[in-house]
Amino acid sequence: MAEEKKGWKHIPIGGLIVEPGNSEKYITGGWRTYRPVLDDSKCIHCMICWVYCPDSSVIVKDGKMTGFDYDHCKGCGICAHECPKDAIEMILEES
Ligand code: SF4
Ligand code: SF4
Repeated sequence: MAEEKKGWKHIPIGGLIVEPGNSEKYITGGWRTYRPVLDDSKCIHCMICWVYCPDSSVIVKDGKMTGFDYDHCKGCGICAHECPKDAIEMILEES
C-alpha cells in the first residue's frame, strides 16, 4: 500500500529537517552550451580562475589547478575570460 503523503500542516511544531538541501546534488552541468578546456602547458596555477568561478567548479589539488568539475560547471566562460595566460578555451558542447 502506498504511503500517505503529509502536507506542511501535519508537520509537528518543532519538527526537524534531518537532511538539509545541498546544491551539490543538482547536476547543473547539463545546462552548459560551451565547456572550458584547460591547456596545461600554458597554466601557471595562479588560481585566478578558481577565485572567479561562480560555481566552485575549478578543481585544485596540491596547490595546482587540475581541471573542471563538469557535473556543476555551467559554462559561463568567466574562467576563460579572466585567465591571464589564455590557458582556458571554451569549446562548443556536442549535441
Ligand atoms: S587562471 Fe589560467 S593560468 Fe591561472 S590557474 Fe586558471 S587556468 Fe591556470
Ligand atoms: S565556465 Fe564558468 S562555471 Fe565553468 S569553470 Fe569556468 S567560471 Fe566556473
